[in-house]
Amino acid sequence: MRRVVDIGRRIELVPMDPHFNDISIGLYRQNTNHGHDTPVFLVHTYSRISGAAERIEAVVEAMQVLGGLLKNGDGLLHFPCNSLHEAACRRVFLEACKLASDTPAEPRPLNILDKKSKLTITVDSIGEGVYRVSAEGERRGAARRVSAIAGGLAKLGEMETVETDNRDTVAFACGESHDALVGLLLTRAPNVRIVLREEEMGAGRGVLSAPSQQT
Ligand SMILES: [Zn+2]
Repeated sequence: MRRVVDIGRRIELVPMDPHFNDISIGLYRQNTNHGHDTPVFLVHTYSRISGAAERIEAVVEAMQVLGGLLKNGDGLLHFPCNSLHEAACRRVFLEACKLASDTPAEPRPLNILDKKSKLTITVDSIGEGVYRVSAEGERRGAARRVSAIAGGLAKLGEMETVETDNRDTVAFACGESHDALVGLLLTRAPNVRIVLREEEMGAGRGVLSAPSQQT
């Protein structure tokens, strides 16, 4: 087993993993990767139950599929663009922990049926990290729903809002595409208020930092 010298700062916690003996699993952020300035993430449990290491490995694998994260030689995760995307990574971690180890993770599509408006919402990648949200059909209120969902993506993924007439376009500051990540965030974007309230209520679980404190 790899010797963990400094596991870093915990940024998210699943206190009881329903898929493996109720162990707690933490997501940790480390600042450096062998002297390079690549933010990296560690999935870790203090549990010594037999099989815990395999469970952690399954979560790490799922995060790669669901969030498009890469794993380095030390088993640490990072985004291909080498940007932090900490809030997004926390979401990927929480979703990965919801999957049982024997459930194959699949990247989420870039469209969903929005239950509230009954509209099919699609997100198009238009390059350089820019994503445009649209709704199928010309229903009343569709434009407002589209901009609300775009706002949800921006909040959950710490994306920037691009100034457009319809407020339907958001972008990653890194300027690179993250399709898997956007698909995952899209499943939660329509309920962003509920998601953020849940996070607030659970804030005692992990150490959550304001976006302004992030680099
Ligand atoms: Zn990026």
